[in-house]
Amino acid sequence: MDAHPLEQGLQRPALNHCDMWIDSHAHLGELNDSDLTATLRDAAEADVGIIVSTATDCATARTVARQCDRHPMLRGAVGISPFDVIGPPATWYDDLTALLSRRRIVAIGEIGIDATNPRYPPLSLQQPMLEKQLSLARSLDLPAVIHSRGAEQRAVDICRSIGVTAALFHCFTGGREALAAIIDRGYYISLSGIITFKNSGLRERLRDIPLERLLIETDTPFLAPMPHRGKRNRPAWVRFVGEEVARLLGKKKGEVQKQLEENFWRLFGKAEGMENPRHPSTSF
Ligand SMILES: [Zn+2]
Repeated sequence: MDAHPLEQGLQRPALNHCDMWIDSHAHLGELNDSDLTATLRDAAEADVGIIVSTATDCATARTVARQCDRHPMLRGAVGISPFDVIGPPATWYDDLTALLSRRRIVAIGEIGIDATNPRYPPLSLQQPMLEKQLSLARSLDLPAVIHSRGAEQRAVDICRSIGVTAALFHCFTGGREALAAIIDRGYYISLSGIITFKNSGLRERLRDIPLERLLIETDTPFLAPMPHRGKRNRPAWVRFVGEEVARLLGKKKGEVQKQLEENFWRLFGKAEGMENPRHPSTSF
């Protein structure tokens, strides 16, 4: 007897590489249904096979779960971001826990700390929320998607102290030491369109990232890559990030796509409900 589809989904899917890109971090919660469908179609036409729709608070977390129910090419991350730590609903922890059991929700995120702007909530509020959500990630054995601008080392230390085993440091822009700390702990790095900006120091750092720990993203609607810098970003443009990574490393596009896809499944594939996006094939 064939296994139930959801049980099949718990297994690591057979990898049949079809030259696809994966956008490991995008915010799609503001899109209405028809705009979302158009956005996903646009992405599929640009060889994007999977997009991780990422929440920043309880309201967008519910939206992400609903989107993932409807669109097989989506996976979801739900969490409360460092910018949204003030005044979450009293039920936030239970709300997130319930959503994390939903189909195609594969991670807690985005969560984190950001020390780059005094107008953001103080670190004294950001850090406890990060710690509670990391403990939840650890207890559910799910990966965490971490925003850590200006505080990468501190975020790594917190992850380590809580015993987090799987984490993605999204939109990484940190320095050499922070990168080494992330890699040493077995965590992953995701690069955004910033890698396509000629003046970004990130380009020098690329070769220090082991290719088996790398993912790429758009962080839609922010950080559109070249040649669309300054516009509203979209998941279809993750290919500009991937192509730039391939070019800078002197590797073939297909080789980079294959490695990034393997990395994606290794990091996110054990979450309940994960399934090979090609079976059934991409639909909207
Ligand atoms: Zn984000």
